[in-house]
Amino acid sequence: MNIIHFQSCVVLPPWREPLKLNYIRMKKISRRNLLKMSGIPLGAAAFGFTPYSVEAKGAVTQEKNLKIVVVGAHPDDPETGCGGTMILYATEGHEVVSAYLTRGEAGIHGKSYEEASLIRTNEALEACKVMKARAVFLRQIDGSCEITADRYIEMYDFLKSENPDIVFTHWPVDTHRDHRICSILVYDAWLKLNRGFDLYYFEVESGGQTQNFPPTNFVDISSVIEKKHAACFCHESQNMVHVYSEFHEHMEKFRGMQANCKYAEAFIKHNQSFTKIF
Ligand SMILES: [Zn+2]
Repeated sequence: MNIIHFQSCVVLPPWREPLKLNYIRMKKISRRNLLKMSGIPLGAAAFGFTPYSVEAKGAVTQEKNLKIVVVGAHPDDPETGCGGTMILYATEGHEVVSAYLTRGEAGIHGKSYEEASLIRTNEALEACKVMKARAVFLRQIDGSCEITADRYIEMYDFLKSENPDIVFTHWPVDTHRDHRICSILVYDAWLKLNRGFDLYYFEVESGGQTQNFPPTNFVDISSVIEKKHAACFCHESQNMVHVYSEFHEHMEKFRGMQANCKYAEAFIKHNQSFTKIF
C-alpha cells in the first residue's frame, strides 16, 4: 500500500542556532516501511505524518485504518485549510470526519440564520461527498461561538466518542473569533483526553485570518488539487471561486514552494502529540 507524499520541515528555535530547515522528502512509501521507520529514535526522524500513531497505540503488527477528524468553525474551513490532506487520507482508505462547529448561520448577506444554515449545511454535505468524508455538525452559532463549561464538555464528548488518531483544527492565533474558540475547545479536549491523539493545526486565509503560523509539516497535495478545488467550490454561497483565487491558491503555491512541490498544505504539529516524532 502506498502512502501519501508528504514533506516535513523542522524549524529550530532561533535562539539555538540560525534558522535551519531540514527537509526530508518521502515518495510512495509503503505502510510497512513507514512503520519500520517510525521506530527511529526521537529526534532522528524529521518526518512524521500518518502512521506513527499506529505504532504509538500498539498496533504495529497489522495495518490499521486511521480515524482522522478535522474540526473547523464554519462550513468551508476544513475544506480550504485541510481539504487536500483529507482527500489523500480518504483515498488511502482511512476514515475522515469533517466536523463543523457551526452551520455558517451568519454567513450569507440578506438571508436569515435559518435560511443560511440550510444552504451552507447542504454545501458542506456536497463538499464532504467530494472528499469522501463524514460530516458532523456541532451546535454552536456562527459569529456567536462561545467558550463555556458546557461547550468544553460538548467538544470533549464529541472527540471522545470519535476516538480519533489524528485531529486537525484551527491555529489559535486568528483574527476570527470563532476560529480561536474552535481551536481552544479542541485543545482543551485533547488535554482532557490525555493527549490521546495527534494534534495538528491548519491555516485559513493566512495573513487575513490565520496569523503567526510557522509550519512544522507540509503535505504535497498536487495529485489531488483538482478534487480539493471541487470540494471547496461547493461553497457557492461564499463566492468561493473568487475567495479561493484571492487567498487559498496563493497559500497552496507558496507552501508548495517551501516544500519543493507544486501545491502543499502546511500544518503545525503540537509537539506533545502522542507519537512525539519531533
Ligand atoms: Zn471560518
